[in-house]
Amino acid sequence: MVYDLIIIGGGPAGLSAAIYAVRYGLNTLVLEKGFVIGQISTTGEVENYPGFISINGIDLMEKFSEHAKAAGVVVESRDVLGVRSESDLKIISTDVGDLETFTLIIATGANPKKLGVPGEEEFRGKGVSYCATCDGPFFKGRNVIVVGGGESAIEDALILSDLAASVCVVHRRDELRASKMLQDRAFAKPNIEFSWNTELEEIIGDSIVREVVLRNTESGETWTSPIDGVFIYVGVEPNTEFIDVDKNDYGFIVTNEKMATSEAGIFAAGDCRTSILRQVITAASDGVIAAFEAYEYVSAMKHKAE
Ligand code: NAP
Repeated sequence: MVYDLIIIGGGPAGLSAAIYAVRYGLNTLVLEKGFVIGQISTTGEVENYPGFISINGIDLMEKFSEHAKAAGVVVESRDVLGVRSESDLKIISTDVGDLETFTLIIATGANPKKLGVPGEEEFRGKGVSYCATCDGPFFKGRNVIVVGGGESAIEDALILSDLAASVCVVHRRDELRASKMLQDRAFAKPNIEFSWNTELEEIIGDSIVREVVLRNTESGETWTSPIDGVFIYVGVEPNTEFIDVDKNDYGFIVTNEKMATSEAGIFAAGDCRTSILRQVITAASDGVIAAFEAYEYVSAMKHKAE
């Protein structure tokens, strides 16, 4: 059987795309690799997805799944190994054989890189976060650190500085990688301070984060600092290795505003593509645009064949 559309990834982008695609009448299949679907499932409370004042990340993803199921979306658990084009078809090779489709939406997401320090995993969602837009409001009037010196770190330090009492940017070197404009804005903020040549060694707490152990990279001196929140920005890794389309230097898939990639009939949506904001709502929005464009693509192809 040849599918009209295969969507790789069953997170917010993939399932939003699938709900729209099924409603457009496309014969659609969603492929999902993991048991825990989407980064959102590893997030704590979500307070910025309209329609839900506050909802747990797992519960929100469950609602997406229920909705998709009710719409008639079929999800299969498969590991995608590669994609190749053969005339009008895209061949998806998976761990349990090949699948054929006219169009493809890649919605495989991205994962924040981990520092790998003790306490990071244990306190994720309990004071450790990778997203100020998502979790910043939980730290109103509290003291937080931001680890990293890139664009994401400084952008989110600025967001946090409007919420938290104090923000300390912990960076392993003595200069930032972020753009000059962001640096200037951060340096001008009275409640942002910088701890240069400093690495985070450990995160300590009980039911929530209480303190961090920091180390000066030049002197080797270590010290403990009481803290309420740790925001980590040491890079982001998109899950895009299996697909050969144009990507930026960091591996994010380049798309236009129609979510089209450099390969005709292949679209990308959500965190795996180049975008300025990676949120559930932007992923969902990308997904429905990609579904509409896939529908247009398949319709034009079938019309031509008639
Ligand atoms: P990034 O530019 O790779 O920066 C990562 C930061 O983390 C660097 O400062 C790096 O330190 C530090 N770091 C890496 N590994 C570390 C470790 N093990 N321990 C301590 N520190 C570590 O990542 P990003 O900020 O996520 O940005 C990724 C890309 O997205 C960039 O192209 C950026 O411009 C783009 N972006 C764009 C926007 C926007 O347009 N609005 C927003 C965010 C990001 P060093 O500096 O010492 O290497």
